[in-house]
Amino acid sequence: MIYFDNNATTQVDPEVLQQMLPFLLEQYGNPSSAYSFGKRAAKAVNTAREQIADLLRCEPAEIVFTSCGTESDNSAIQSALLADPDRRHLVTSKVEHSAVVKHAEALARRGYEVTWLDVDSEGLIDLQELDRAVREDTAIVSLMWANNETGVLFPIEEAAEICRSKGTVFHTDAVQAVGKIDINLRDVPINFLSLSGHKLHAPKGVGVLYINRKTRFNPYLIGGGQENKKRGGTENTASIVALGKAAELASSGLRDERTRVKAMRDRFEQGLINTVSSIRVNGHRVHRLPNTSNLAIDGIDSEGMLMLLDQKGICCSAGSACTAGALEPSHVLRAMGYSNERARGSLRFSFSRFNSESEIDQALQVIPHAVEKLRGMNRGVLAA
Ligand SMILES: *Cc1c(COP(=O)(O)O)cnc(C)c1O
Repeated sequence: MIYFDNNATTQVDPEVLQQMLPFLLEQYGNPSSAYSFGKRAAKAVNTAREQIADLLRCEPAEIVFTSCGTESDNSAIQSALLADPDRRHLVTSKVEHSAVVKHAEALARRGYEVTWLDVDSEGLIDLQELDRAVREDTAIVSLMWANNETGVLFPIEEAAEICRSKGTVFHTDAVQAVGKIDINLRDVPINFLSLSGHKLHAPKGVGVLYINRKTRFNPYLIGGGQENKKRGGTENTASIVALGKAAELASSGLRDERTRVKAMRDRFEQGLINTVSSIRVNGHRVHRLPNTSNLAIDGIDSEGMLMLLDQKGICCSAGSACTAGALEPSHVLRAMGYSNERARGSLRFSFSRFNSESEIDQALQVIPHAVEKLRGMNRGVLAA
């Protein structure tokens, strides 16, 4: 199998698995227990907290473990709304992950007002539009650091600064950015940041919400006093330990992402551009993650392409999603002003440090043939 879908989820790093196994087998104590068997688990959780803080360059006390990126996103927005009930306006963008989009839509149905920022044809927001959108009653601005479909990077430092100057809480969904680009929270006035374990070679079902130490927080999950009373629920010790190790490996692997992983992505992309006619890159070619390539290929349907590539053992994602039996073109590509047809002919390839040059070679052999086959079939359908 050739796995080019690392923005959907990633392989657990074998070193990460090694670290977490003892906490599933022998060290199963509850971190809240008073005896030393429990305290050892609590110590492991705090080591992980330090490892994450090192990666983000923040304080360990600013790290709260959650169950996933979705929970972190929901918690940040919920907290800001509870902090000041008079503020009933939110700002976000049209290209956010469903963890933010669907939540904002649900809030709109409950009477909140949402301003949806547009993106241009390269997937970027206009900071002046953001500046105009923030009002006195804006409870929170939530903007993703990197887009999961196109890899496009928003100017988060500048956006955070605009929000700080206007006294509005700022949240960033950095699930795709963490581990792929350098993040230094010491220099950026961010109130909340979300990340997720399974996007950076830790297991599924663990995440982090960074909460700036000066930011008021209202817990989303109310229960036991875990996570310094910020998130109830017995800690998922093994997965938290795993996420800590994954963060440590991500810190030392950032250079590799910028160089080797990016070079693989670029060689893949350029290889296809050289061999396949009528193919275009979706999204800004520079302001983008080093691992992501989203390509529009004329005359194909991405679902058909997915099937053909699956037969050859290649995993990637389509620019459309099958919801309730109908093919919905990606809301991200649509927001960039692309036609339904372009969105339906788009594919996302996302790489990781576990991919190899020989996988790129194989894919560059297979994909042009698959495109020809699909185009031939579609021409046949049109002729008939
Ligand atoms: C995957 C993803 C999420 C959701 O994370 P989960 O841990 O799967 O809930 C949120 N935002 C972005 C940008 C993502 O890519």
